[in-house]
Amino acid sequence: MTERMNNQTGRHWSRDEMVSHLYGLDAAEGLNASHLDSCESCHSGWLAVQQRRRESLSGMTVSGDLLRRQRKAIFARIDRPRRPSPLWGLAPAAVTALLLVGVSFQPPKPAVYTQTAAITASDRELFNELSELMREDTPRAAAPIRALFVEQMDGEAQ
Ligand SMILES: [Zn+2]
Repeated sequence: MTERMNNQTGRHWSRDEMVSHLYGLDAAEGLNASHLDSCESCHSGWLAVQQRRRESLSGMTVSGDLLRRQRKAIFARIDRPRRPSPLWGLAPAAVTALLLVGVSFQPPKPAVYTQTAAITASDRELFNELSELMREDTPRAAAPIRALFVEQMDGEAQ
């Protein structure tokens, strides 16, 4: 008997679908609201969902007076925005004073040490060595490698 009715009024409803229906959302495809009355299992579920909603709302009694006071407080707050404390007007002056104090306590800049060029004997040796290096046609690093080869009389290396 139940199965026959199901065929007439669509498929069974899930709990989530019942809750959505309770809050006025459109039923999903293939759902029929008349099924909630005709199907025994869905009908009991539907009653349970409705009962649960009634229970959750019963504890909430919000008086109109409370709502009126809340509304008044909100409008009052909107009409007169919070003013910043008058001390905030002094903030830029305080920051400027702190900066000035910080600058005045800066240690003096150290004297720039200037080195004058003085050519010493060791410098002369260095320059001589450098000019000698620049005159050589083969780099000095090649000397150890050259020592590995024994030059023969015909000039061919082995
Ligand atoms: Zn059903």
